[in-house]
Amino acid sequence: MVTTLLQPTPIDDIPRVYETVVTTYRSGRTRPLTWRSAQLVQLSKLVQESQARILEALSTDLGKAPLESAVVEVANLVGMVRLALAHLEEWAAPDRPASLPAWRANWDCVAHKTPKGAVLIISPWNGPIVLSLGPLVGAIAAGCTAVLKPSELAPASSALLAELVPRYLDGSAYAVIQGAAPETTRVLEHRWDHILFTGGARVARIVAAAAARFLTPITLELGGKTPVVIDDTVDLDIAARRILYGKQLCAGQVCVAPDYVLVPRARQDTFVQALLRAAAEFWPEGSRASPDLAQMIHGAARERLVRMLAQTCGTVVLGGGTGGERRMEITIVRDLKEDDVLMEEETFGPVLAVSPVDDIEDALRIIKSKPTPLAIYLFTESNALKQRFLEETESGVLWFNDTCQQLAAQEIPFGGKGESGYGAWFGKASFDIFTHARSCIDVPFAAEPYFAPRYPPYTQEKLDI
Ligand code: NAD
Repeated sequence: MVTTLLQPTPIDDIPRVYETVVTTYRSGRTRPLTWRSAQLVQLSKLVQESQARILEALSTDLGKAPLESAVVEVANLVGMVRLALAHLEEWAAPDRPASLPAWRANWDCVAHKTPKGAVLIISPWNGPIVLSLGPLVGAIAAGCTAVLKPSELAPASSALLAELVPRYLDGSAYAVIQGAAPETTRVLEHRWDHILFTGGARVARIVAAAAARFLTPITLELGGKTPVVIDDTVDLDIAARRILYGKQLCAGQVCVAPDYVLVPRARQDTFVQALLRAAAEFWPEGSRASPDLAQMIHGAARERLVRMLAQTCGTVVLGGGTGGERRMEITIVRDLKEDDVLMEEETFGPVLAVSPVDDIEDALRIIKSKPTPLAIYLFTESNALKQRFLEETESGVLWFNDTCQQLAAQEIPFGGKGESGYGAWFGKASFDIFTHARSCIDVPFAAEPYFAPRYPPYTQEKLDI
């Protein structure tokens, strides 16, 4: 039976949940690597054995197609756990400097990788399973205990996590608190050793302020408006397919979804035709009722897009229609001007904005005039242009020639900059988020002759050495 109503954790239970994970952390039980590995294996089992239920919950919350959920949420999670298991010993190994200056050559200088403690992971509704359990992989690998606070707007996924986490993992080390703002506010009244928040900038500021009371370190994974740039060289059919693929994931409700495409003016017609061909291939019966296209999270989100479409000065060449309470067609709008409503706010829906530009300088100018996005996508065959984007633009991540494959690239960190957040997770970066590098220095008594000049009295003779 899939839940469609949130079952919030009673507010009065929250302190007990907090005390439990703190006490477990302090017991030292979560520190041994064997224990962490065993929990990671359990997490992998949770995901694999519950795949059908995860797909069902994601279908209930977001209308996500089973294939999309199986790839984006399940397969990526299994990949994250495998990577952590394969590298756990290496990540957790103490760091020793390769060499030391002669006078400190016999010092033992080590940075030990110690867990930060009891940590909090707050996640959004648009990737309710992978954005909750994904960061948890890092917390477990690092030896922390953790509380997950999934989004109230994905109640089926939230309830499933609350059921499965204590069933597969050590329930005194890992817990799920369900709820919305009141519950999260109560959770944030406690002193956490790290908070990883994924969501929007408004709530991020609330979380950051709450964390500041305790000087709790935080990681903020936020959103923004993601530009795509196409140059004169690329194959427009391939580019159109790859851009439309990224746009349609979770019906555009993805933090790195392509938002607006800056295309050379002379290529706009051909590019739009390529987009229309790709759309006809992806949804031969149209996207309005397609089971392959996810739904909007709620009617209000859909209405917001309808309002934006009513305000745009661009030309809608595909879609624009709605169906049922939460369905929105894949929509393509062309000839957008720089100050158009679709070029200003994070779209967060299946609307792709196409804006013609004079040249690459024009595209660079537009990107630089906006807040730092989480991602920039550049479609080009020119290495020189790739280098220019690397040097002249700023963003959380920069991808060439594809979109929305970030979750698969766990070997490099993923995180925002400026308005798109700070700190980064994925693979070793997730381990590092929840790890304190504790420097430990052992100075041998045999080093004493080197110290003679440092002791008072501070004579001129010592100064002259
Ligand atoms: P949100 O900020 O509204 O909610 C995120 C979390 O904060 C939820 O768990 C929610 O319950 C909690 N929350 C809501 N109000 C709160 C309050 N007053 N006090 C404390 N906690 C509160 O975000 P959302 O709408 O769930 O997610 C959409 C946003 O997330 C988009 O901006 C998107 O770009 C971003 N996002 C970023 C990433 C990333 O990896 N950078 C991934 C997915 C989504």
